[in-house]
Amino acid sequence: MAEHIDAIAVADLVEFLSVAQRLVVLTGAGISTESGIPDFRSTEGLWARHAPPTYHEFMRDADQRRAYWRLRRELWPRVTSAQPNPAHLALAELDRRAILAGIITQNFDGLHQEAGVPPDRIIELHGTSHEAACQSCHARQPIAMVQQRVDAGDEDPRCSCGGYLKAATILFGQPVPATLLEAAITLAESCDLFMVIGSSLRVHPAARLPQIALRRGVPLVILNREPTPLDVRADLVIRATAGPFLGSVLDTLRA
Ligand code: NAD
Repeated sequence: MAEHIDAIAVADLVEFLSVAQRLVVLTGAGISTESGIPDFRSTEGLWARHAPPTYHEFMRDADQRRAYWRLRRELWPRVTSAQPNPAHLALAELDRRAILAGIITQNFDGLHQEAGVPPDRIIELHGTSHEAACQSCHARQPIAMVQQRVDAGDEDPRCSCGGYLKAATILFGQPVPATLLEAAITLAESCDLFMVIGSSLRVHPAARLPQIALRRGVPLVILNREPTPLDVRADLVIRATAGPFLGSVLDTLRA
């Protein structure tokens, strides 16, 4: 059954968007669940069955690396076949309307780019799963090449320098690159509307970014299926599924 869309919440968000000139959006795994990529915390999700290793575990334990690549064999087909959903497309349309200053994403799936948002307006805070990175020499290569080796039986793939290969994403315990974090903070410091979509706001440092906007008195909108720790401080909290809700918002803006 189609989800009921709260018309008052749609009107409220349209009002915020109508006056915004520098919208910054923080997106989490929830914006991509409708594209078939499970989020981190959903009980039926992939991650509930296999928690990814921490960075420290990955680096010190060959069994953890083999388990990591087994998990990626399950995840990779979902990421490569995923298509942008109406929520990604709505943000791309806000970009064409020159409202969007930037997207800070916790996701590594590349779906904002595929939806048509120019890469220079997207900060991938947790990296990209479309590339592999050597943990020693930092050389990058398309992840498809490494996945082929794993599929052919190379369970702990290495770079030509001998370093461990891993998707160019951030595992728990691995710091977000300072340049990316600084760029995200600069966006949060210069926006006039901050919106969170599909993030539990429990992963730091991303979860601190809306607070930068709040401290400047900038309105905060949170669109998420479940409560988040910042709901009490938000100007508008929308408890809805992102795709259909943002689809309605765009329909209203077009009208
Ligand atoms: P999370 O899993 O902690 O939280 C996702 C939130 O989105 C949940 O609160 C959930 O209720 C909500 N949600 C799920 N589907 C939704 C929908 N259709 N509409 C609205 N809300 C929805 O995700 P997180 O906070 O982003 O943290 C998990 C970390 O794991 C991320 O930082 C990311 O690096 C990584 N991750 C990325 C992907 C991806 O790239 N698509 C997928 C899984 C995990």
